[in-house]
Amino acid sequence: MALSKEVYKEFEDVVGEENICDDPAIMPSYYSTEFAAVILPKDTAEVQAIVKLCNKHKLQFRPICTGWTGVFPKGIILLDLRRMNHIIEINEKNMYAVVEPYVISAELQAELMKRGLNFCIKGAGTNCSALLRGHGHMDQTTSGDDRNHLAIEWVTPEGDIVKSGSLGSSDEWYCGDGPGPSIRSILTSAVPPGVTPGVFTKAAMKLYHWPGPARFPIVGKSPKYTLSEIPPNMMARYFSFPSVEKMWQAELKIGESEIAYELMGFNAAMVACNITTCNEEEEEVFGRISKEVQGPGFFIIIAGNSPEDFEFKKKVLQKIISDADGRSLKSVENPETEGILLCQCIRISASIRETFRAGGAFNSIPVMGQRDLTIKWAIGAGKAKEPLIKKGFIVDDGGAFFGWGVEQGHLGKTEIFCKFDPLNAEAKAAVEGWQKEQSKRALKERYFANTLASDDEVEHEIGPSLSNYHLWWRKLRAAIDPNGVTPGGGALV
Ligand SMILES: Cc1cc2nc3c(=O)[nH]c(=O)nc-3n(C[C@H](O)[C@H](O)[C@H](O)COP(=O)(O)OP(=O)(O)OC[C@H]3O[C@@H](n4cnc5c(N)ncnc54)[C@H](O)[C@@H]3O)c2cc1C
Repeated sequence: MALSKEVYKEFEDVVGEENICDDPAIMPSYYSTEFAAVILPKDTAEVQAIVKLCNKHKLQFRPICTGWTGVFPKGIILLDLRRMNHIIEINEKNMYAVVEPYVISAELQAELMKRGLNFCIKGAGTNCSALLRGHGHMDQTTSGDDRNHLAIEWVTPEGDIVKSGSLGSSDEWYCGDGPGPSIRSILTSAVPPGVTPGVFTKAAMKLYHWPGPARFPIVGKSPKYTLSEIPPNMMARYFSFPSVEKMWQAELKIGESEIAYELMGFNAAMVACNITTCNEEEEEVFGRISKEVQGPGFFIIIAGNSPEDFEFKKKVLQKIISDADGRSLKSVENPETEGILLCQCIRISASIRETFRAGGAFNSIPVMGQRDLTIKWAIGAGKAKEPLIKKGFIVDDGGAFFGWGVEQGHLGKTEIFCKFDPLNAEAKAAVEGWQKEQSKRALKERYFANTLASDDEVEHEIGPSLSNYHLWWRKLRAAIDPNGVTPGGGALV
């Protein structure tokens, strides 16, 4: 749907002619040629003015940060936020950073490491926006998802500016709640649609202590970075265990003793993805290390604050691993490989390989919750993959799942992939069937509810089992978006 000249001019008056476009020759550089226009606001005032115009003309809009996963319907106005790319503040004393939407995680992390700080980087990669919520490899120390947002500046679907938490009452960013009822769950909701209608224009993110070097000693070229030397008091290892139960007991003890900087339950296939640079090499390494591991395992980074702290943590680790009959994967002890893994898993740069692996496309069932329960469910989901592997529909990863600790084990994440050839219709249908069946089993056996489901499933099965959250969400949307200018963000349109 094209804008009329008059309406186009009204938007142009807000951002200037250089920052609006409906040219069919330029639009394909975004997702589709069928946006009404792409507009690039430079600050909150411009975002607000655009949103108000959208309400005036009943035009739907949606913002985009780095565009890694966003799904953008046809005919909408796309707000490309790339000009809003400033780190507003790094508050070392109170340990938060205030960012605009287009600050990517790599930029923020480089600035933070100079100050002995770090933050939760989404497993999607450091190329993604630092401002949107997510979880990743370092959650064991940096927590994840909705736990890391402090105060937020939000332009509502009607064009009001809302400042949450301490920002609204004292103009400071240190807290996302109150005074009075908190709106945090509206802003950084953990249930889909997960995308808050409106636009976040600034957010304060929690920061955490970084015991490593101010600058990572990186050598090599993409896709093969490693370290010229392993930073002092830092170590990366992969341990495999004779059973899931033993692995899980070791994870629990590591959490209780708070010795791990990172605890990432990679399976052997994901280790192979991280340390190789092409599919052929990866298949070869996967075949080799699959024979070296004795069962399920995890990747761990130990980082000491001093040589003494490092020695202590290593000793504790050694005891936990030997009590659980764990075994170190020798390939990872090689300093070059150890360096690659430290690069990939602290600077979060191998996700695209970890996720897609040879196979082309994937369907996944991700779960955040109590790790032992989600592991129990995932074992069944892994077994259910076996017939698909036998039929050649999905890549053979040994039926593996993966996951990681969050906040030293207070929470956990488990996820299971099915990787398949997207051009093979039979394989696609089989994978979709597996996903549906395993999500249903999870709900029926009371492990968790997969809220990334179809409208029908949310309406009749998932919503009713979760306090009818879908009905509340619809009421909320109707209240904050009376003109219907924000398209639905997921299963609930
Ligand atoms: C290979 C792969 C691996 C991934 N792994 C992980 C993972 O391990 N952990 C994880 O958490 N996620 C993961 N993801 C999902 C990931 O979190 C998101 O892709 C990423 O955070 C999106 O950031 P983005 O800036 O690219 O968002 P975009 O794609 O730009 O936007 C995502 C959504 O947010 C909305 N949005 C964008 N900016 C704003 C704003 N300022 N205000 C309000 N709404 C906005 C958009 O409209 C869109 O609906 C993965 C994705 C891929 C493709």
